[in-house]
Amino acid sequence: MGGSVVPGELFHKGILYQQGEVYVLRNTMPFPLRENNAFIAESDKGWAVIDTGVNTRENQQRWTAALKEIGISYRHIQKIYVTHYHHDHLGLAGWLQEKSQAQVFLPQPDLHTFQTFINGDQYGSAIRNQCFQAGWNQVLTETLAEDVNSIDILIQPYPFLTALSPDTSFNLGGDLYTTYPVPGHSDGHYVFVGVDNGWLFGGDNLIKHTILHLTDWPHTRLVNPLADHLAALDDLRKLDISLVLPGHGMCFSNILDRIDVIQQHHEKRKNQVLQGLIDSSSAWDLAVQLFRDNPYIHIKRLILAETLAYLNALVGQQQIAVEERAGVNYYRRVL
Ligand SMILES: [Zn+2]
Repeated sequence: MGGSVVPGELFHKGILYQQGEVYVLRNTMPFPLRENNAFIAESDKGWAVIDTGVNTRENQQRWTAALKEIGISYRHIQKIYVTHYHHDHLGLAGWLQEKSQAQVFLPQPDLHTFQTFINGDQYGSAIRNQCFQAGWNQVLTETLAEDVNSIDILIQPYPFLTALSPDTSFNLGGDLYTTYPVPGHSDGHYVFVGVDNGWLFGGDNLIKHTILHLTDWPHTRLVNPLADHLAALDDLRKLDISLVLPGHGMCFSNILDRIDVIQQHHEKRKNQVLQGLIDSSSAWDLAVQLFRDNPYIHIKRLILAETLAYLNALVGQQQIAVEERAGVNYYRRVL
């Protein structure tokens, strides 16, 4: 079916293109990266999808036009595999599920986090406590909670989810893929690796033009997200990867170079955190001192999240110590 596609308007505009047997659909989103990828391919049991985009009218129209151009209907989609629970990957899964009745798979640890979101207690007392511990006041914490609520519409309707485990195999475009955990960006982020073709659907872990933020704070349950992330990237070095199909931007082939760049980036920033820690400091005070603050609450969250990740890694290496005073964690260098 796929081979008989006559390239139409979407192909000419670069919204839909073909990478071997896989169709890449480029969606839009109201976040800084502006665009993200969804993947559509025939499998041994109907058609399958990897990641979906945020649920906006424009992306719905792109999906409808893309399926028409490929020559299939929504009912052909049987399986939807999502790399992690963030809005730009899971957002349209519920809407697609309503139209297709497809099964939606999400990595187990992210399914656990997502449950707290759909139960409405994503900013309950435990999370508020963590914000306070990191040095945030109530205004910042409330602003984040309100902002997260305001973008919930981009992920509704919520899909019925099936948990995905490591080392699970599925067919896509005639090739067998296996699930690999790469925690860090979110606790349960998985990548999907082609057993024979060496293709890797990398989600937000491996992107050619940028390095996406590390850690899902304040929703991470990882003690040392940086160490987990770097170890997982090292594991990917052992695989024979021929092509990365990322969650954002264009596909690329030089995965080892990209892993080098990402690992060097984190090492450099971790050193910045260590060198910047002159006196005893909260994570937020240090984040504002070292990294460019921004009025947008999610950017504030990200610089704090990463600072915490580097601090926790340095605590793990016994280069810094942490002590709690009046509910706030203070970090200092170990002499
Ligand atoms: Zn993400």
